[in-house]
Amino acid sequence: MEGIIYLDHAATTPVDARVLEEMLPYFGEAFGNPATLYSVGMMAKAGLDAARERVAFLIGAAPDEIVFTGGGTEADNAALKGAAYALRDKGNHIVTTQIEHHAVLEPCAFLESQGFEVTYLSPDAGGFIHPEQVAEALTPRTILVSVMHANNEIGTIQPIRDIARVTRERGVLLHTDAVQTVGSLPVSVRELSVDLLSLSAHKFYGPKGVGALYVRRGTPLVPFLQGGGQEQGLRASTHNVPGIAGLGKAAEIAAGEMARNASRIQSLRDRAIDAILSRIPDARLNGSRAPRLPGNVNVCLASLEGEAILLSLDMDGICVASGSACATGSVEPSHVLLALGVPRDLARSGIRITFGRENTEEEADFAVACLEKAAARLRVMSPDYPRSGR
Ligand SMILES: *Cc1c(COP(=O)(O)O)cnc(C)c1O
Repeated sequence: MEGIIYLDHAATTPVDARVLEEMLPYFGEAFGNPATLYSVGMMAKAGLDAARERVAFLIGAAPDEIVFTGGGTEADNAALKGAAYALRDKGNHIVTTQIEHHAVLEPCAFLESQGFEVTYLSPDAGGFIHPEQVAEALTPRTILVSVMHANNEIGTIQPIRDIARVTRERGVLLHTDAVQTVGSLPVSVRELSVDLLSLSAHKFYGPKGVGALYVRRGTPLVPFLQGGGQEQGLRASTHNVPGIAGLGKAAEIAAGEMARNASRIQSLRDRAIDAILSRIPDARLNGSRAPRLPGNVNVCLASLEGEAILLSLDMDGICVASGSACATGSVEPSHVLLALGVPRDLARSGIRITFGRENTEEEADFAVACLEKAAARLRVMSPDYPRSGR
């Protein structure tokens, strides 16, 4: 990453050197299939067990409530489809929000095509979903509620505990996509009182392609991969042992270091938000300032294109996102900003900066200075800036 200032930690994070170290033996002397009984297999099994305990510890779960998956998207798909099909006889109604990640929204759209009904709650202007909205949406046919813990674009943190009070009282399952919070902020499945929770290793300095679904004991779920007994029969296929060991190590490191990192990252965030809002004309922050992910800055810069800003910053060696990574390449403005009520034109100017633990104040300051220059330069070329009357 020589010369690169990486400010896109919501998209992915670099693998911690200690995580890579932990993974290497499982490509070498401990390469065995963890389902076998000879020593090379038992070494792999021991790595698997240790990782399961570390992940469970990080989120306050029991080890047998952790199902390893091929990432956050798989965990979300498994939770939604798995619970929907398991409870089909009980009802066909699902409640979620307009600001979920596509890994939740697309399985919901699929379930609609299969005869389920989905209610999409809209956030308030600050980016929050309220427990009363969930309560109002529930019907006797509701089987599942899925509300993300923190939003990957605007960083707002949802009141999952209060939402759980509503779902619990009504006997409805609650899933939360906690991919953005696990490893960055304290997350306890007991405290949140959820039944299903998704997490992903590469969002907290672990490897890509591995994650987990927390499944509270007794939660009905249809198996998501069939063809073997792995993961209590829910997720067949020989384990990705090196990846899972990496996830475990990342979880252990996060448990020990997150408090210190979060407060430092949060001060970078606040420094950048204050500087952008005070120095760049017509900049507005998307999503309420609090409660918000420690590293998340998301702003609209009137009459600019997010993609143009992104490319300009890339020439300065700075990596940021416009909209969400998954939407890059499409010209559609972010579904999250639109749900907040941001007008379409303004939504196209969205820029997301997400700080991580290796960033410094100098990097934050340099990025804001480059953003200020890019905005000024691009606005000179923009036909609709400044608008008359400004
Ligand atoms: C990144 C992300 C996902 C997808 O996780 P993968 O491991 O990349 O599949 C899902 N939900 C949210 C909120 C995310 O930020």
